[in-house]
Formats: sequence, C-alpha cells, structure tokens
Amino acid sequence: MKTCAISIDLDPLTAYYQIHGLGEPPQQLAGTIIARALPRFIELFAEADVPATFFLVGRDLTQSEIAKRMAKELVGAGHELANHTFSHPYDLCRLPDAEIAREISQAHETIAEICSDAHAPVGFRSPGYFINGRVLDALSAQGYQYDTSMFPSPPYWLAKILVMGTMFLRGRRSDAVVTDPRGLSTPLLPYRPDRERPWRRGDAPLIELPVTVLPGMRLPAIGTLFAAGPRWLRERVLGAVSKLPFFNFELHGIDLADAVDDRIPTELAGRQPDLRIPYTEKRRAFLGVINQLKHEGFQFVTLKQAAARYS
Ligand SMILES: [Zn+2]
Repeated sequence: MKTCAISIDLDPLTAYYQIHGLGEPPQQLAGTIIARALPRFIELFAEADVPATFFLVGRDLTQSEIAKRMAKELVGAGHELANHTFSHPYDLCRLPDAEIAREISQAHETIAEICSDAHAPVGFRSPGYFINGRVLDALSAQGYQYDTSMFPSPPYWLAKILVMGTMFLRGRRSDAVVTDPRGLSTPLLPYRPDRERPWRRGDAPLIELPVTVLPGMRLPAIGTLFAAGPRWLRERVLGAVSKLPFFNFELHGIDLADAVDDRIPTELAGRQPDLRIPYTEKRRAFLGVINQLKHEGFQFVTLKQAAARYS
C-alpha cells in the first residue's frame, strides 16, 4: 500500500522576516499564520477527508487564546500535533545541550498542557532541516518516536546558499543556517539513523522520516512547488511522486497565506512570490494533488502512523 503523510510547519511570518533579514516584523503579523492560514488548512483537509500532522512552534501557542483554541480544534479534527521547537531557532543544532533540550521540552509541555497528555507530540521537525546527535539524544530522552527534519535536496541547498550569498553582498544578514552538505546523502525512505552521522543508517532509538525529494536530481516535492511552481514542473514532480511507496509531503502555513487577503506588507510579499498567489488558487492546487494521489491508490496517514509502520 502506497502511503502519503501530509505535514504543515506552522512557522510564523516573523520567521520569514528573519530569513530575509528584514529586522523586527510588525507585531500584528505574529499571529497571522495561525489565525488566517491554519483555518484554511483545516477546511481543506476536511473536504479532502485526510488526516495531517501539524508542527507547532510552542511560543506561538502561549501568545494568544486563538492559538490555543486552534490547537484544540486540530485535535478535534483528528490531526496529529507535533513539535517544531519552542522559539524556532534556525541554529538549533549549534545551541548548547541544555538549550536544545529546553527548546524541545518547553514546546512539548506547552502542547501537552493545552491539548492534554494524550495528544502530546511524539514527532519532531527541526527549524533548520537538520539534526545532530545532541538533538537525537534530547528527542530520545523525551521518548519521541520519530524525527522528520532531514531534507536531502542539493538543488534546494544550492538555491539557499545563492540567496544567502546575494543577501550578504547587499549588506543584509539572514538567520538561516547553511547545513552540513553530508546531510544531502540522507536515504530517501524512512530509516533508523546513526547517532554520530544522522544522515546514515544506524541504531538510534527513533525513526527518521526524511522529507520527500525525488530519486535522481533529488528535486524537492514540497508544498511551495505545488503552490507556485510552473505547471509542467508540478505535473512532472507529481508523476514521479506517484511511483514512490511513501510520500512525506511537507507544507508550510505560509502556503495558504495571501498577501492581499491577510494584509501582508510588500516588504515581505515582494520577497515571497508565493504570497502573491491568491490562497484560493493554492488551495485548489493542493486539493488537486491530494485527489490525484488518492486516484493513484495512496492511503493518507499521519507521520506518527507512518513512523509506526516503518519501525
Ligand atoms: Zn519551521
């Protein structure tokens, strides 16, 4: 049986201000993704009748009642809640052990407190698409079942370096971090990682579910491509994905945000072309992908269910 697990990283818009080196974001944007984009995802998945896994940034849940209510709504709709750290540090892997442990446990406890221990996360995704032995240790100590941070796409990795280099030449500094290129050799399908070199197979107590990239060039098959990529590329990528036994389909909250509808300033929308596409159009594209995969015989599961199958 072919399986697809959809996950959504609920990065706040403030994270994109950090990536683009735009300085302090306007305060009213801090809750936009949860208040505006998240309800669109809930509605989309209800229509498509599929479960999903939502990666929550713990701090965002402490900042508004809306966020707490939305987290409970996700649980009520049958979705999985997972851990995306407390404050979304792009340099998580470089932090001291105690801070890594705190980023993970504080987010964990915040989610468990709001949604009950029964819905406490068992899965983790790092903000920088990378983990190391110290992050694995912290996850194991917390009893986590899976990690899904590795994203072994050389084209994505090179594009990121190019953007960061251009920003540097223009005197702007990005908070994004260049990851160890050895991570680009990560296996394409779920595996048990090695503690010292998590991009290799080993005997860690948890399962790694790499974000899906295509065999060959390792093109990323992520939400932004289906939301904003040219039609010919979307069709090719979807055709290739359809042949895989497991599709770890990663999206971001911003994938259903809308510069006009959500009043996102030009300083950010000008640097994120996907924000300038109406959310209704992006929603249609995602629904099309889900329906096509169903037609190809895919079963939709949460990442927790996928991890259980692979372990
Ligand atoms: Zn993130």
